[in-house]
Amino acid sequence: MMTLAIDIGGTKLAAALVDNRQQITERHTLPTPASQTPDALNSALAELIAPFQGRASRVAVAATGIIRDGVLSALNPDNLGGLARYPLTETLSRLTGLPCLAVNDAQAAAWAEFRALSGAYSEMVFLTVSTGVGGGIICQGKLLTGAGGLAGHIGHTLADPHGPRCGCGRTGCVEVIASGRGIAAAATDELQGMSAKEIFALHLQGHPQAGVLVRRSAQAIARLIADLKAVTDCQCVVLGGSVGLADGYLSLVESFLLQAPAVYHTPLMTAQYQHDAGLSGAALLAQESGL
Ligand code: ADP
Repeated sequence: MMTLAIDIGGTKLAAALVDNRQQITERHTLPTPASQTPDALNSALAELIAPFQGRASRVAVAATGIIRDGVLSALNPDNLGGLARYPLTETLSRLTGLPCLAVNDAQAAAWAEFRALSGAYSEMVFLTVSTGVGGGIICQGKLLTGAGGLAGHIGHTLADPHGPRCGCGRTGCVEVIASGRGIAAAATDELQGMSAKEIFALHLQGHPQAGVLVRRSAQAIARLIADLKAVTDCQCVVLGGSVGLADGYLSLVESFLLQAPAVYHTPLMTAQYQHDAGLSGAALLAQESGL
């Protein structure tokens, strides 16, 4: 039975066919619409899924933001503005004629990565460093979603009380400092206007100012991981997202984490599903729900 899996991020939309053994057979991506309105997202989703019409028997969506009863609400409107209450499952069922399950993207990715570890751990945190910073927490082998879908939004915990204001309305969140958007927003002088991807590439070439921005991000993530260790006593943290998966980022985070007392250390790993963790996790959750 094929699942049409869809991942809605702040930078890109992805769709793929996933079979019951979690093999991804086809993958298409589109940029997330810049106009950030429900109509723009409707059209982009219709375009994204067009090549897959009639080829799957259910839809599984992983999306940034809070997902409750199939409805998406952007926690940080800077990432998906205008989507105060977007009827995600209703829209995709209408577009495809198929049943649809929706889940937060980092929660979905956490589930895929937890399953990929084949029972080695019961306590695990998945952290995505992408357009924003998201998370999914596995506690006693179960995925925490929370009563209203908010569980795991660890990018909106405090990194710096004197830091910039976050799109969620708080000040100094981890997301506003460590995310791709945060890295780009802090760029000055010749780096101003560049994307996190471009800044990261310069950092790898030894550009000192780019290095400062990347290290600032990695340090905020390392502090977050120490906090998460204190809260969940996680046995490992899995990193994903395009910044999280970028060359050398994990070892930078590790070097900052090792500066904290040993009790806060935890093994770090990169996502086994790489950029497809959200797609795979959503498909897996849909399969397991018997949708
Ligand atoms: P989404 O947030 O839509 O899931 P990504 O995980 O690709 O998408 O994250 C997008 C962010 O990652 C952007 O800020 C982009 O500039 C940055 N990025 C993309 N590729 C790289 C890369 N190779 N190295 C570092 N940063 C990257």
